[in-house]
Amino acid sequence: MHQIWIPLKDIPAGGGEYEVDDQSVWQGPIAEFALPYTIVEPLRGSVFLLPQDDGCLVRGRLTGRISAPCDRCAEPAAMVIDHSFDSFEPFPAQPQRPQQEDARGHGKAVASAPEAPAEEFEDVDEAVMRISPSGQGVEVSLSGLLWEEFLLALPVKPLCSTGCKGLCPSCGSNLNTSSCACKNEEGDPRLAALRGLTIEKK
Ligand SMILES: [Zn+2]
Ligand SMILES: [Zn+2]
Repeated sequence: MHQIWIPLKDIPAGGGEYEVDDQSVWQGPIAEFALPYTIVEPLRGSVFLLPQDDGCLVRGRLTGRISAPCDRCAEPAAMVIDHSFDSFEPFPAQPQRPQQEDARGHGKAVASAPEAPAEEFEDVDEAVMRISPSGQGVEVSLSGLLWEEFLLALPVKPLCSTGCKGLCPSCGSNLNTSSCACKNEEGDPRLAALRGLTIEKK
């Protein structure tokens, strides 16, 4: 995945606005995990980041258009993505490193991120927050955030249309475009579960 890490120390005190339209942010994980989504209209994320003492406020919006297989007939179902989000990302815990001391025995600060006990940060999402490997302090990942928000924006059961008839359970024909000769049992589906049950007499 194309990673966009923003060091929190680079964000203005009043917060920073970021626009992301690099499709690889979404296309990368879609390809990597072989997900059945196609970007139809470029995705675009706007993110506002506001660092706090113990984490970062995140607010933004993700828009675009994608297609995903219909939950009933598996044909491509186009859907508009217009998803607003508002969350709080806690800081990651400082890695445990021995305090470096100079010849006179003075302690030297190792990183600029606030110190805190590790157990306060159990909920840290490592795809979104990290301690910079190059000594930039805490960093937040715009790409990680926007990928997670993309997943949250997707409907659980995409449908090509609300009236999609789905596939015939016997022969698999798409009942939106063809009818088949299978005799599907009609009737109250709640009663179907009871068919075949016999009542034992004692
Ligand atoms: Zn369908
Ligand atoms: Zn059929």
